[in-house]
Amino acid sequence: MYYKDLTSYEYHESGIGKNIVNIGWLNKDNNYIKSSKPNVEVAKILITLWDDRTLRTRGFHICNLCENESAPTYFDDINGKSYLLGSAEFRIHSTRSNLIFAVPDMIIHYLLDHNYQPPSEFVDAVLELKNS
Ligand SMILES: [Zn+2]
Repeated sequence: MYYKDLTSYEYHESGIGKNIVNIGWLNKDNNYIKSSKPNVEVAKILITLWDDRTLRTRGFHICNLCENESAPTYFDDINGKSYLLGSAEFRIHSTRSNLIFAVPDMIIHYLLDHNYQPPSEFVDAVLELKNS
């Protein structure tokens, strides 16, 4: 499922709301901005929000940027804990812009393995969480 960054959220009807915008809904048919290196810091902060994810689905989405499109995507943390990505969304509130970012949990994989560079207002909102 592809949505351009910062467009109005519409994927799950129950998740639609005022000021809710898409971040990180990538697919291989649409270009996205790439960083020169993985965005480890943003991914690390997001993984701390794992239990606060919303709109969980029974199945899971598979990354179609990867060569091996049939395999589920996992994130393994430094403690050896494994997270199955692709079945829920994060909601990140921006205190500065009054936006709420609707973000598939697959973004962790996009940040680390596909060097996805999200818009700065999203990066700032995530980094602020670390300081709060
Ligand atoms: Zn991938």
